[in-house]
Amino acid sequence: MTPLPTTASEITPNMDIPLRQSVELAAFTAVTHPISRTGILACIYTYVKAKGLLEMPFIRCDEKLKKVLGGAEKVHAFAILSYLEQHLSPISDLSDYILVDAPSAAKPTENTQPATTSTSPTPTREWPHPVLIIKNQDYSPNGALFSAAIPDPLSWFRQITTTVIQSLYAQPEQTPSHISFVRLVIEDMPGVAYCCDADPDPSNPAEKGRGKQIHLSTQHIRNTAGSRAGKGGPNEDLSWLPKLHHEITGVITHESVHAWQHNGNGTCNGGLIEGIADYIRLRANLAPPHWQRARGGNWDDGYSTTGYFLEWIEDTKGVEGFVRSLNLVLEDLDWDEGLFRLLCESGVEDLWDEYQRSFDGPAVGMDVRDPIPTHGV
Ligand SMILES: [Zn+2]
Repeated sequence: MTPLPTTASEITPNMDIPLRQSVELAAFTAVTHPISRTGILACIYTYVKAKGLLEMPFIRCDEKLKKVLGGAEKVHAFAILSYLEQHLSPISDLSDYILVDAPSAAKPTENTQPATTSTSPTPTREWPHPVLIIKNQDYSPNGALFSAAIPDPLSWFRQITTTVIQSLYAQPEQTPSHISFVRLVIEDMPGVAYCCDADPDPSNPAEKGRGKQIHLSTQHIRNTAGSRAGKGGPNEDLSWLPKLHHEITGVITHESVHAWQHNGNGTCNGGLIEGIADYIRLRANLAPPHWQRARGGNWDDGYSTTGYFLEWIEDTKGVEGFVRSLNLVLEDLDWDEGLFRLLCESGVEDLWDEYQRSFDGPAVGMDVRDPIPTHGV
């Protein structure tokens, strides 16, 4: 058993520099990129608290903890860092910073009809399997909150990507084939998130061709979690964890829509672009608590206002797959309000008026969500 630290200097190393983790520690934190000591402590305290293993001043070690805390049954809570040192080393190269999911070629789409009776052409495309990259560039406690809320980030990002693509497109053949990678960068910046085009990083051989980059703000993550989140300690209330997971998943779903949606050759009404993104977030049950389906505004105010309107069109006007169809025609056609009439036989203003009349009572306050700056779809 590693002896307990005896001096203050032994337990106060530089807490914020990013370090490479051992395989064992990375398995515990579920973070394979470098992480600061503060970030690791946040992961451990969150785990210990969630599992009820804190018996101040000691931590009772389950099998998972024993692998990173020297195999002891019980360790002093203030001595955790001394056990972790053997799992930490300096960063040696850029590859330490990134998490890459580059799936091998997916199986061809199965033709489920018996070969002898099939008259339809065999599908030639499969659902896109882009290379996914996650770079957490914020090694402060704010960046560690992302890791705490999203313990298996590549699987999580893959799931979001699949959900978004299959919400926008009915068939693999319809999906954009030119996006070969999507990079998620978590960084200290103002705002919430945005999506833009990305060139491949020459230092990462997994990135080729054209891609998209989603930026996620750790300031927004901190604001969502609350100032006390991730500080550890015996009395920490962990209710921020599921709340933060829900919010980050919703934001990245919205931005992933921008990565994959069509935009009428760059002509599409910006409110509709944002409305489609929030419509898909809504359909994925990821609406944040402050959204409300409310009367008022204009059809192309964007975000949840337009998102709820699109939902109403699909649910009450008998136009199943309206948003998918709208997205699909925007691959080739420039934006025109007439597209609404083309797809559901009513003009968009008439539909909006009817939607407004569907609300009972007087107009209520409009959606007050934070703006999500988004561009470069
Ligand atoms: Zn957006």
